[in-house]
Parts: sequence; structure tokens; C-alpha cells
Amino acid sequence: MLVCLRGFIISMSETYGLVNDGLVVFDDTTGLIEDVVEWDERDSVKCDLIEGNEYALVMPGLINTHTHVPMLILQGLGAGLTGFDWLRKIWCVEGLLRPEHVYISAKASILLMLENGITTFADHYFYEEEVVRAVEELGVRGVLAKTVIEYSEHAPKHSIEDSINFAMRFRGIANDRVRTMLGVHAMYSCGTETLLKAVEYSQKYGVRIHMHFSESLHELEYVRDKYGRTPTSLAEELGILKTKPLLAHATYLSNEDIETLSKHKVYVAYSPFTIMSWGQDIARVSDLVEKGVTVSLATDGPVTDGDLSLFKQMKLAIAAQSSRYKTPIKLQPREVLEMVTKKAAESLGIDDLVGILEPGKKADIIVLKPPKTRLVGLRDNPFTTVVFNLGDESVNDVYVDGKKIISNKTLLRINIEKLHKQLVDTRTKLFEEAIVCDR
Ligand SMILES: [Zn+2]
Repeated sequence: MLVCLRGFIISMSETYGLVNDGLVVFDDTTGLIEDVVEWDERDSVKCDLIEGNEYALVMPGLINTHTHVPMLILQGLGAGLTGFDWLRKIWCVEGLLRPEHVYISAKASILLMLENGITTFADHYFYEEEVVRAVEELGVRGVLAKTVIEYSEHAPKHSIEDSINFAMRFRGIANDRVRTMLGVHAMYSCGTETLLKAVEYSQKYGVRIHMHFSESLHELEYVRDKYGRTPTSLAEELGILKTKPLLAHATYLSNEDIETLSKHKVYVAYSPFTIMSWGQDIARVSDLVEKGVTVSLATDGPVTDGDLSLFKQMKLAIAAQSSRYKTPIKLQPREVLEMVTKKAAESLGIDDLVGILEPGKKADIIVLKPPKTRLVGLRDNPFTTVVFNLGDESVNDVYVDGKKIISNKTLLRINIEKLHKQLVDTRTKLFEEAIVCDR
């Protein structure tokens, strides 16, 4: 069936740009976009179904480039702690996690992200096979990695071989809705032998590395004390940077570090809330962007920041960068919208599939229907209107791979009440066991 979505189209494509009142046309069987046309040209396409109206907004589904969806079950844990103190607490409870915790929690996070207009996410966790199962079932798109942590006595032990085996086994499944990466937790939690093996496997099998990187002062000091250099310099020496990794956070960077990251054309996933709420500095995102590094936005895991909202991260990114550089609107609304669509897809290596609306791309599309009072400036300043005026509650319909997953704000595939009860019951039992972590 040929489905046509009507609205103000923000395609994020160079070719199709903005369409004041138009249609995005896709085939719900192949899941591919076939055309983007003006409403006045609607006779040129044979729509079987037209949805939306002239007040709706039609955009690419949002892409979250760094999270840990199974952590929803840990929400609130470690409140008030930061850095390595927070990690020690989290790692202890993570040692008690079993695959069923991961599965239920991943499902709950994915549904929350879908409600917030996020159709793709890059994840990094233990028992990641359970996240694959949740992705397959719920129809979302995921770029998934199995995490390796060596220096935690409690965290589940996956080896770098487990991580590459996972990546090779699951990449391309579910009609290519699952892609994979190698999951290295960080340079402060893995030894050089593992890091070097990650580089070797990345190059041998063409699987990129997704890792936390230079996120906190603790990490900066740890790497300096142990290796006598900055995290960037160490990553370059170990060969990590030449694999074009996806680096989460990149908070602490010298001018020389930024030049190095630019030279290697790495990808940075920026989650302003996580790092600022830990009391760390604001990352030098604008300097990275000016030097040609591709930066995308991410929510990080839903422990301290449980809403999994990229609309919030977009606003925060602009505010944080303006404050950091003492310049009004240092990052432009259009740039941050690219960071959750086009640039995010490039960062995950899935720009052949998604990130923009144009013929040949997958129909991962969101339809927004905000109150009209929030759209007064839409036609003059569309990017400003979307980024500053709209939020998760504007998301009305969500399509992934041409299949409708949310219709009129209602999830179509799952009994959310039943899942919520399972999540709360499982969490209660887990936290009873977790009393050992307070001793
Ligand atoms: Zn993270």
C-alpha cells in the first residue's frame, strides 16, 4: 500500500529541504520512501491512504546515538553520587542483573523512546542479546553493542571475543533493523590488551568501536596517572582513533586533542545532561564541529536522566554551548536538529538507510501535531520552532521501516500496563537483592 503523510515537511535532505505543505510517500510493504511532493502535486502520486493535515509536521525519526536501555530498571540508583563513586554503586547492582531484567527494561526504554519520536538508538550493555530480542519484537531500529568491562569485580563479564561474536551474529537481522558495533566500556575500565584486540577485530571484521571517552575529570586523572598522557593521546597510540570510533562524551579535550580527533574523523556522541549533572565541564562541542568532527546527540542511559528525550537534549545542547562560549545561540537550531537526524545516522554508519526523508531511504518517520500556538513562527523559522517550542508530547505518529508503531499517541504493539507492572515487580525484587551493595 502506498501511504502518504501530509504536513509541513522537514526532510533534512539537501535535495528536498522544506516543503510548506506536502506529502511524504512510502510503500509500507518495502518500507521505502518513494517520493516527496507538494500537496498541489498530489495527483502525480497514487496514494492508497493519506494521513496528517496542513498543521502537522513530518520529519525523519530521531536517532539517539548513545544509551544503555536496560538501565531503566536502575532508575534513581546512585542519586547524589558522581564519577567513579556513582560507577562503583551502579556496577555492584549490575552484578545482580540477569537477562530477564535486561529484556524487560530494554522494552520499557524502547517504548518510551518511541513515544518521544526516537526510531533508532545506539546501545551499549551486558546481555545485549536481550536488547536484540526487544528490538525485533517492537519494530524499532538499533545499533547494538555488547559491553566489555574488565575492572569491575561485580559487572557481568563479557570478553572482547564475546563482543565481536555478538556483532557478527546479529548484524543485518530483522530486515536490517539491527546493526552492530564492538562495545568497549572505556579506557579506564579495560586494559590495553583488550583495547588492542578491539582495534584488531574492528579492522579485521569492519565493525566499529563504540565507547565512553574522556568523559570526566576522574578519567582524565586516571589515564594521566597510569599512562602519562591524555585519553585522546592514548587512544591514538593504541590505534583506536583510526578505526573511526563512536566516542561518547569527549568532555575533556585540549586544543591538541581536538586537532587529533579531527585528523582521524571520529564521531562524538554528546549528552549534555549526563555530564553537566555530574558536575563536569561543558564539552567543547562547537570547537569540534568547527574542526569538522561529526557530533550527534544522545540521552545516555536512563538512570539519572530517565526521560530518554532528544527534544530536551537539543535545548540543553544549545543552552550549554552558548554558556560555554558566552555567545548567544552558539549552536544553531538547524545544527542540533541535524545532530539527531542526518549527522546521527552518519555517526552510526546507517545513513544509507535513514536520517533524511528522500526516495530510497527507509520510511522511519515521525508526525508531530503540537498545539497551533507553538507553531506561530513555523514558516519563518522552522528549525527554531521545532527545537525551542516543541517537545516529546508533540509526537503523534511514529513509523519505522514503513510500519506504523504509534498511532495518535497510542502504542500499537504492546500492552503497556502489563509491561509496567512486570518492570515494577522485577525492580522491587532486584532492589531487595541489591541491599548487599550498601554494605
Ligand atoms: Zn554511557
